[in-house]
Amino acid sequence: MNNFSRIKEPLTLLGNYMSTKYGRSWGSRRELLLWQEWQVRRHLRYVLARSPYYREAAGGLPLEQWREFPVIDKREMMAHFDRLNTEGIGLEEALEAAWEAEKCRDFSPTVRGITVGLSSGTSGHRGVFLVSRQEQMAWAGTIMAKVLPGGLLQKHRVAFFLRANSNLYASVRKGRIEFQYFDLLEPIEKHVSQLNTYRPTLLVAPASVLRLLAEAVKTGALHIRPDKIVSVAEVLDPLDERYIGECFGRQVHQIYQCTEGFLGFTCSHGTLHLNEDLLVVEKEYLEGAERKFVPILTDFRRRTQPIIRYRLNDILTERKEPCPCGSKLLALEQIEGRSDDLFYLHSVANGRRKPVFPDFIRRAVLSASPEIEEYLIIQHSERLVECSLKVRPELEAVCREQVTRALTELCSRLHCHAPNIRYSEYVQGPRERKLRRVERRFAL
Ligand SMILES: [Zn+2]
Repeated sequence: MNNFSRIKEPLTLLGNYMSTKYGRSWGSRRELLLWQEWQVRRHLRYVLARSPYYREAAGGLPLEQWREFPVIDKREMMAHFDRLNTEGIGLEEALEAAWEAEKCRDFSPTVRGITVGLSSGTSGHRGVFLVSRQEQMAWAGTIMAKVLPGGLLQKHRVAFFLRANSNLYASVRKGRIEFQYFDLLEPIEKHVSQLNTYRPTLLVAPASVLRLLAEAVKTGALHIRPDKIVSVAEVLDPLDERYIGECFGRQVHQIYQCTEGFLGFTCSHGTLHLNEDLLVVEKEYLEGAERKFVPILTDFRRRTQPIIRYRLNDILTERKEPCPCGSKLLALEQIEGRSDDLFYLHSVANGRRKPVFPDFIRRAVLSASPEIEEYLIIQHSERLVECSLKVRPELEAVCREQVTRALTELCSRLHCHAPNIRYSEYVQGPRERKLRRVERRFAL
């Protein structure tokens, strides 16, 4: 590392921290959108000069017409990886570095100084992502500003649970911030005793892990009082949110983040706001539901692997009312889940497939009985749904009946043929797998 970057890196982190926390505010939503527009155009000037893929995709359109550039997705991004990134890094060499690092659990795969990240592609094909040192510092500064309670002078002990580490995250080990990484694959008992010693002020983990830790709080095995609890990486089911919140006596915050970027964080009111100070979110509204959309992202800060009009595989629901916190950033009611987890049923009217939102399924199950502690619901085909409920044994038969009734009612409300519902015993899934309470397991 030369002297210049030694000074430049902390400055990038601090600069991003300060501008995120104190610097940017917009008098109105309109002002925010105008500011974004300028950010995107400036960013595109950089990208189009260096990315042959995007230059061709732009097809000579003027920058102000960037909303007419083609929409891409992960498949497209991977197919054109070599010509899309601005550093001329080939997919082969990036994958090789990532696999090598994973094999020896050396969490720092880099190619020519650029960090390589793999996304855990549950949908089959994994994504490969490139981030420069500069971008990591900017990310760390931004996330600290949004997530850490209080100012920079306050001391923090952060406990961070991760499925697989990469040096994307290591940059948070700075100054007054102590940072401990917990490997998800270790047994939960070990985590409990380590957490009791470490006493984190900030606890960040996937919802399924927070749930296990909450159970340990309830039994008295775990006795920590973090100032802030943050759920990451998995859809936070309202059922888990309530349980975790009650056990810890704290509101559960959420970081909405994936390899594609840092997308959102909850405000003091617990509302999830999209990070429109980092990216433009275009909304592809879904038929048959109000306020539900698939986001198309344009990140105006990621330069190494630009994300321009990139369709995410997620379904989000906008909030109806503005958030009382006054933020101009788009407020969400919830992250519904992945588009791949939409259920499909046959319409009574014409026999055609009809999508059913995960949220509808979730609500039907939860409204069936307050006795349901946990659940999993998996669609295996248009005709078969498998459901498992965690309830007290003596209530199991009744609860199953109530869930069947609730799901049948939902189907008739949606004018769909009800599938067969098969019940199985509730079993905790392996921890290396992301928890999805509502899941579709067949391809369309
Ligand atoms: Zn808010």
